[in-house]
Amino acid sequence: MITLDEFIINFTNIKLRIEKACLKSKRDVSDIQLLPVTKTHSVHAVEYALHVGLNSVGENRVQEVKEKKPLSSESCRWELIGHLQSNKANEAVRLFDRIQSVDSLKLIRKLNTACEASEKVLPILLQCNAGKDPNKFGFSEASMSEALETALEAPFLKCEGLMTIAPLDEDPTSAKACFERLRTIRDALSSEFKLELKELSMGMTQDLEEAIAAGSTMIRVGSALYGSRA
Ligand SMILES: *Cc1c(COP(=O)(O)O)cnc(C)c1O
Repeated sequence: MITLDEFIINFTNIKLRIEKACLKSKRDVSDIQLLPVTKTHSVHAVEYALHVGLNSVGENRVQEVKEKKPLSSESCRWELIGHLQSNKANEAVRLFDRIQSVDSLKLIRKLNTACEASEKVLPILLQCNAGKDPNKFGFSEASMSEALETALEAPFLKCEGLMTIAPLDEDPTSAKACFERLRTIRDALSSEFKLELKELSMGMTQDLEEAIAAGSTMIRVGSALYGSRA
């Protein structure tokens, strides 16, 4: 685990990358939220994030958050960014403030039922496999309209936008195409359903510049902040 001083240097560098990307695409830095991804790291990673004024963290496993959350500051918001098995919907609803990785109709229904039981409205994002990567979860582009319709029929879920993960590729043009695709899908859904769908969660350590250029409102950054997870 890196030290707090090292984290602050990494955080400063990420902010510079965000600023440069915003200058280039004429966007306002305040329109892009940085979600620190603390998965596999200890609770110190969460405390570092809170120390520099970030108020949410991204995690990909229910079990890990179950262990970390009781040890962390109560002010922290937890976002799920990894695939969720629908039999863990109840637990996830209890642990997370938002679920970004909603990737099946079955999961939408299970989450809605779990929220109803705990009298909670849960913000969600729909994960779209916009890069058509066979190794990634997420709704296909063709099923996004049905997915959103199902989410809108779920009274205990509040769909705030879309999320995607670009295909693993050294060539940044494939991430760029994936992000531009998600933006186009969002714009189409937004006009079809007359909804804002403001959030576009896209971009990670490798490809945050491409994501910001394509309209990302939230970049999810792990290794550039905390070092490698290996
Ligand atoms: C791990 C993870 C990230 C962070 O990835 P880095 O390359 O370490 O920045 C972002 N999004 C999702 C969905 C992840 O699983």
